[in-house]
Amino acid sequence: MTTSAPITQDVFTIPRKLPEGGKINLVGLTRDGLRAALIAAGTPEKQSGMRTGQVWQWIYEKGVRRFDVMSNLAKDYRALLAEHFVIEVPEVVTKQVSEDGTRKYLVRIAGGHEVEVVYIPETDRGTLCISSQVGCTLTCSFCHTGTQKLVRNLTAGEIIGQVMVARDDLDEWPELSRAPRDKTRLLSNIVLMGMGEPLYNFENVRDAMKIAMDPEGISLSRRRITLSTSGVVPEIARTADEIGCMLAISFHATTDEVRDGLVPINKKWNIAVLLQALRDYPKLSNSERITFEYVMLDGVNDSDDDARRLVQLIEGIPAKINLIPFNEWPGAPYKRSSNNRIRAFADIIYHAGYASPVRKPRGEDIMAACGQLKSATERARKSRKVIEADAAPD
Ligand code: SAH
Ligand code: SF4
Repeated sequence: MTTSAPITQDVFTIPRKLPEGGKINLVGLTRDGLRAALIAAGTPEKQSGMRTGQVWQWIYEKGVRRFDVMSNLAKDYRALLAEHFVIEVPEVVTKQVSEDGTRKYLVRIAGGHEVEVVYIPETDRGTLCISSQVGCTLTCSFCHTGTQKLVRNLTAGEIIGQVMVARDDLDEWPELSRAPRDKTRLLSNIVLMGMGEPLYNFENVRDAMKIAMDPEGISLSRRRITLSTSGVVPEIARTADEIGCMLAISFHATTDEVRDGLVPINKKWNIAVLLQALRDYPKLSNSERITFEYVMLDGVNDSDDDARRLVQLIEGIPAKINLIPFNEWPGAPYKRSSNNRIRAFADIIYHAGYASPVRKPRGEDIMAACGQLKSATERARKSRKVIEADAAPD
């Protein structure tokens, strides 16, 4: 498996204009962007603040997709909006439900590209794993997404749209305004751990997460949003400043030699540089720890020495360590560490004072586990058992 492909940020995002009819999609615009769009369509400037708030609430608090149901707006104004705009989210092509309740959606975005979105229900929360790019420019050697070339960045609308289609499927919109802020929600957490490197699509990820956190809309606390990065060092401080969400680092190795082979971005920003960026991370405190993700690969990074080195390396950083048993995929050059090995590794970390939960693979029967997304879908499309097709809202 090659790990030497060039690391590049040279990707693009399609414009918000829709190919058909030339209407602009309001989903994914920031509040300022929405206001500007409403003014450009003829909304008097002095009304624009109020109109922005009203339209925003219809879209993100009530989950509506049509202007004609926006009952607190005058009929003529609704017609004006419909003339210029659409409220469009990705189309759900298929939905699969795992034996363990995990739901995987295949959604189609402009240009016919498809990305996967995974909903993981747990007793005290429901986590939505969303994608930030179609494919990935990075080529981590254990990651199935990394074997697929990057096609393009997702727009902010396509990123927040994944949250919106999951809410549609969970039928969570009407309850939202009445539900307590986070706790009892079906979709209570977001992780940017699907396809792509979110920090190589920073602005779109930021705008989408700002929408998710907006108190007049989806209203998720920033502590319930976790962004996972392979280590794009220059964007790490920006994540704290401009998004403010929780951070997870795909660490995966304790020497540069091994990390170079697993996470090739390490050749650009090595372990020492990465750890320094984390030590400098604004807002770091014991209540807002950084998650270190560590995939357990048999005989590669899973020795007792690795566990001890890991603990030494992160000393002084408020951290939790998330051990991820490797999810195998066809042709993968690695094997998952044995349960005994994972337990021994976890014990060393635990005795050093760190919480070391082992991430339980979820949705394996539908290839929804970490690092199994998309490429497998393409391969398995023909044989896949489609439980429900066309779950898109009307
Ligand atoms: N690109 C980002 C986020 C997406 S990957 C990143 O790399 O952090 C989300 C997590 O799944 C990362 O920690 C990644 O290293 C891990 N992962 C990728 N492939 C995996 C596999 N086959 N088994 C287990 N974890 C995997
Ligand atoms: Fe990209 Fe993350 Fe996979 Fe690496 S682990 S190839 S950064 S999606």
